[in-house]
Amino acid sequence: MRHSENDYGNGSGKVWRGWDAAGTNAHHVSPSISRKALFMQVNTQDYIADDVGTGGATNPQAFAAFNTAEAMQKVAQFYSDPARGAGIDLYWVTSFFIPWPGSPIDYGNGDGRPSAYRYEGLMNYAAQGQIPTDVTGGTLITADLKYLRLVGANNYWQVFPRREGVLKRCLRINRDPLLRGFCLLLFMSRKSTVTEIGNVHPFFPAALAVTDSRRDENGAFVFPVQMSEENPILYSGAPYSPAQFKEYLWWSTAHEIAHLLLGDGHSPDNTGTLMSTRVFLSNCVVSSEELSRMDVKNRIGATR
Ligand SMILES: [Zn+2]
Repeated sequence: MRHSENDYGNGSGKVWRGWDAAGTNAHHVSPSISRKALFMQVNTQDYIADDVGTGGATNPQAFAAFNTAEAMQKVAQFYSDPARGAGIDLYWVTSFFIPWPGSPIDYGNGDGRPSAYRYEGLMNYAAQGQIPTDVTGGTLITADLKYLRLVGANNYWQVFPRREGVLKRCLRINRDPLLRGFCLLLFMSRKSTVTEIGNVHPFFPAALAVTDSRRDENGAFVFPVQMSEENPILYSGAPYSPAQFKEYLWWSTAHEIAHLLLGDGHSPDNTGTLMSTRVFLSNCVVSSEELSRMDVKNRIGATR
């Protein structure tokens, strides 16, 4: 692999990695002032594999292929490519995942879990618009109903503020204030423990970006466990193969990073472009020509 590994310099064992399109093996990469550079802080939830569930819609074989370093290298490769990408050198540094505040959960019957942010109990699913049930094909993951029923809605939403609330809180506490100018990307298991229940709503996307103008509440989420499970749930298709899962993972990660660069919209009338409502990084401007070539909206793979 063409990447560098250097201590970040604060003694915490952080690692730089970046794709060097023209480099050779064992080539150490350092930022070049002559190229566009994108700096990412990447946090992966601890023990993420423990959240892979059981049942007809889970897909442990595909999830086993998840690898943060490989995903980031593929994304960096995509962005750095002068023909398919935007000629951006992506450098990334790993940091520790910090769960949002939450006390241990006791279900009162001997079951429980040590942290509110980690879901280790029964995974409930709800058919769209119907009574929640255990999962089979064609249903939607919603929330930790067991915990919600136990503590009541008010207490539940204190722990898991709705939508943007919990997302922004998670970004705020995970962002390293020393990494100024870095974009934040979080790999977390699935959204199911913190999303809404009780009404019909789309399956919460397995990847999303929060493009708040407040820097510390701006960042991207990718939920690899959920992504590995989504095809039977969302599209009534067969579970992804490991190779398919990785393609979607890499591409979704690249897509959400594009939102951090370009804004939160999808242009309805121009193939491959995002709306570019805001440009967040002045040192990393993507031209409209580059954007149409990259096709960050319609492509289905980062490596093709
Ligand atoms: Zn998008």
